[in-house]
Amino acid sequence: MTNNATNNNALKQSVAKNLAVLGATGSIGDSTLSVCRHNPELYNVQFLYAASNVEKMLALCIEFKPAYVALSNPQAASQLKTSLQENKLNCQVLPESEVLALLGSAEIDSVMAAIVGSAGLKTTLAAVHAGKEIFLANKESLVMSGALFIDAVKKSGATLWPVDSEHNAIFQSMSPSLQNTIGHCDLADAGVSKILLTGSGGPFLTKPLHEFSSITPDVAIKHPNWSMGPKISIDSATMMNKGLEYIEARWLFNTNKDQLQVIIHPQSVIHSMVQYQDGSVISQMGNADMRIPIAHVMGGKKRIKSGAAEFDFFNTANFTFVEPDYDRYPCLKLAIQACYEGQHATTSLNAVNEVAVQAFLERRIKFTDISRIVDSVLNKLEHQKVSSIEQLLEIDKQARADAIKLINRGGIC
Ligand code: NAD
Ligand code: MG
Repeated sequence: MTNNATNNNALKQSVAKNLAVLGATGSIGDSTLSVCRHNPELYNVQFLYAASNVEKMLALCIEFKPAYVALSNPQAASQLKTSLQENKLNCQVLPESEVLALLGSAEIDSVMAAIVGSAGLKTTLAAVHAGKEIFLANKESLVMSGALFIDAVKKSGATLWPVDSEHNAIFQSMSPSLQNTIGHCDLADAGVSKILLTGSGGPFLTKPLHEFSSITPDVAIKHPNWSMGPKISIDSATMMNKGLEYIEARWLFNTNKDQLQVIIHPQSVIHSMVQYQDGSVISQMGNADMRIPIAHVMGGKKRIKSGAAEFDFFNTANFTFVEPDYDRYPCLKLAIQACYEGQHATTSLNAVNEVAVQAFLERRIKFTDISRIVDSVLNKLEHQKVSSIEQLLEIDKQARADAIKLINRGGIC
């Protein structure tokens, strides 16, 4: 190797950021690590974290050789430890109790927050409090903690990048002044009249309503355009996902009611839009491949390779746009209502939805029961002003208990 080549390699290594991938064995984890494969000079995969998939985690450790790895399931973690020793891999298996400290330490620069559901709240917030660069896929953490999350970002100086394809599209369609003030931007001052949040409508856009109660998990999980984990796939079929994204957008872009609108765009080519007061509409388009928004956030100020196929204009269906029908998508309506009722309501909505989706996946309730359970629990909520994460966790716990009670009673009306 020449001196120049040695110097270049040393320089590359010195600028590579240390990345933690939370939810490493999931769908977003796959896409993130695929972007890492295409850009090995930009990131050292330093920490991989997931729930219980030992086989997949072992394969990732063999490939990426992270310094640290953790599984939240203790039995799985101990199996992984044995397998790593058998493979003579020098990778430290961290107990779950040490994960938050690692995320807050100088050993991590950037964090892909891609654990599914409320299980992602603590780790995402730990990265926020430590002022890290955060790639936010785990929308549920923002839905659960809203203002507390955004205040913590502001206080710690953390850098927040939206990974969710719609929020990433909105971010890309904004001026740097808005991008740099994410969480507390002034849309009106920047000439934005409206954020148009697009959604495909999922697999049941044209299905007759009277057939909804017989929808099974196998059918509901098959999204027409995107390949995703089971929970978000069901959320997409009910459009609760768009509801959670509505709340996510409210916090990321500091919108009021008139500045945020959901539009159904079944082809999933336009990933969302920003409308300006002069009549211009700016959008981001591309294939339905999460590596595109992930590469955008991981590249930072620079465009990098994502591995996604080039967009084919000549094999693309016509674009159509439809207003959402709340009889078809009651979960979307419930989420928008909760957004304006307050933090106690969005935290409860998220918790009840998680419980109901799990029960549907286990075939304990019908597809149409998901919205009924959410509606029933939210209807009985009493308003509370939320001022701490501990209080949120208590609200989350109570909402889950109420949902479980309804499901066990079997009498959802
Ligand atoms: P997934 O089910 O495919 O993967 C979830 C990951 O979280 C897995 O690695 C799992 O092991 C891990 N996990 C679950 N519980 C955990 C715990 N207690 N501790 C540690 N790890 C845990 O889910 P996904 O589709 O990759 O979605 C992840 C997040 O990204 C969700 O919040 C989802 O809403 C969001 N998101 C996903 C997509 C997508 O295309 N998949 C798009 C936008 C946003
Ligand atoms: Mg999305």
